[in-house]
Amino acid sequence: MNVYDTVRMHDVMAPLGYTPSDSYEDADMVILNTCHIREKAEEKVYSDLGRIRKEKDSKSAGGSKMLVAVGGCVGQAEGAEIIKRAPYVDMVFGPQSYYQLPEMVTRAMRGRGEVVELDFPQVQKFDMLPEVSDSQGVSAFLSVQEGCDKFCSFCVVPYTRGAEYSRPMAAILQEARKLVDGGAKEITLLGQNVNAYHGDIGQGDRTASLADLIDALAQVGGLERIRYTTSHPRDMSDDLISIHGSEAKLMPYLHLPVQSGSDEILKKMNRKHKAELYFDIIDRLRKVRPDIALSSDFIVGFPGESDQDFEDTMNLIRKVGYGSAYSFKYSQRPGTPAAVDENQIDELVKQERLARLQALVHEQQTAFNQSFVGKTIKVLFDRSGKLDGQLLGKGEYMQSVYVTGGEGLRGTIADVKVTGGFLNSVTGEVVN
Ligand code: SAH
Ligand code: SF4
Repeated sequence: MNVYDTVRMHDVMAPLGYTPSDSYEDADMVILNTCHIREKAEEKVYSDLGRIRKEKDSKSAGGSKMLVAVGGCVGQAEGAEIIKRAPYVDMVFGPQSYYQLPEMVTRAMRGRGEVVELDFPQVQKFDMLPEVSDSQGVSAFLSVQEGCDKFCSFCVVPYTRGAEYSRPMAAILQEARKLVDGGAKEITLLGQNVNAYHGDIGQGDRTASLADLIDALAQVGGLERIRYTTSHPRDMSDDLISIHGSEAKLMPYLHLPVQSGSDEILKKMNRKHKAELYFDIIDRLRKVRPDIALSSDFIVGFPGESDQDFEDTMNLIRKVGYGSAYSFKYSQRPGTPAAVDENQIDELVKQERLARLQALVHEQQTAFNQSFVGKTIKVLFDRSGKLDGQLLGKGEYMQSVYVTGGEGLRGTIADVKVTGGFLNSVTGEVVN
C-alpha cells in the first residue's frame, strides 16, 4: 500500500514540476513514506533520516535547498515528535493527508514553522487525488479499500490508517482502465481488509462485494491477471470463495493471514475467529480451485503464548501446507492493548520459536517450488534479474521466476519450463 501511495504522491507533485529521482544528490525533496507496523520498521526511519541529514547539510553548504518529509504511518503516529527529534525535517504527514502535499511544500518553502498534517479528512483523500498519471508498468497496485475497524489487539493500523473505507466501484474501474492503458497486464487490488470491500455502486444502499468487483474488473480488455491482498478470514464470503473456481483471470494464490493456530491466542488477539473457521475456508477454496497456493502471516511470542499454543500454530502450518509465509516476532506497538499485557514473552523464547516456525515454512516453500520442476508455467516478466541477461517475472502462484535470455519478453506473459526449485524462486527456460 505504501508503494501505491508513493506512486500517487508522484501524481500529486507532477503539476508542480517534481519528478521521481533515483538519488538523494539529485533530489530537491526527499519523502520517506514510512511503515509503523513493527518496531524494526520504525527504527529504520530514524537511521535513514540520519543519512538524509548529511545530504541536506552538504546541499545547503553548496547554497541549495533540500526539503525533507516524513509521510506514512510513522508520520501519523509520531507527528511533531519527529521534528523535535530530527529538527532538519521540514514536513510530517500521515497516509490520509498526502493529497495536500503541494500546499505543504509551499508552506515549508516559505519556512514559516513546522508543517505537520495529521488530520483524517472529512472528504476521502481518493476524491482529492488527481487521476493516475505515473505508469506502474506491467504489474500495478490499486487501492480499493483502506483502514480497518477490526482492532486486533497487537495492531496499529486502525489508529494510523483510520476507519475502514471502500472506494466506489466506478472510480476503481476507471483507474483500472487507466492502468491498463499505461501498460498494466496484472492488477493487485489492495486493502488492509480488502475482502471486507463493499463499494458504492450508485444504487442507494446496495454495495458491490470484492467478488463483484473482481467480476467487473475481469471484463476490462487487456487486463490478464487479478490478485488481491490482504484478506481477513472473517470476510472470506461465499461469493469470493466461489469466484476462485470460476474466474480464470483471478490468480490461483491467496494470502490469508491467520497469525496463530491456537484458539486461546486468537481470542486474545481479538481476531474474532477460531482455527476451525480457517481450516473450513481452506477446504472450500481447495474444492473450487484444487491447485490454489496459500500464504499467511504468523506472529510468534504474542503475550501469554504457551509452548502448547505455539505447537498449535506449527500443527496448523503442517495441516494447511503453504506455498510461502511471512512470520514475525510479536512487537509491542504503542497504544495497542497487547503492548501493556503483563505476560510478555521472553525475547529468547520468541527467537527460538521464530526460528523453528521459519524452518518449517521454508521446508514447505522449497518443496512447493520444487514441485514445479519439469512443468510448464505462465510467467509475467516485469524486470531484470541480478545477473547479466537474466529476466525476472511472477508465476501464477506468485513465485519469482528467473530465466536467462529472452530480453524481448519483458512486459509479456510467456510459457516457461521449470528446471529448478529453490527457497524463494524457481528457474526455467522459455518455451518457444
Ligand atoms: N490486515 C492484515 C494484516 C496487516 S499487518 C490482517 O488482518 O491479516 C501485516 C502483518 O504484520 C500482520 O498480518 C501481522 O502478522 C504483522 N503484525 C502486525 N502487527 C504486529 C505486531 N505488533 N507484532 C508483530 N507482527 C505484527
Ligand atoms: Fe491490523 Fe489486519 Fe487486525 Fe486490521 S485486521 S487490526 S489491519 S491485523
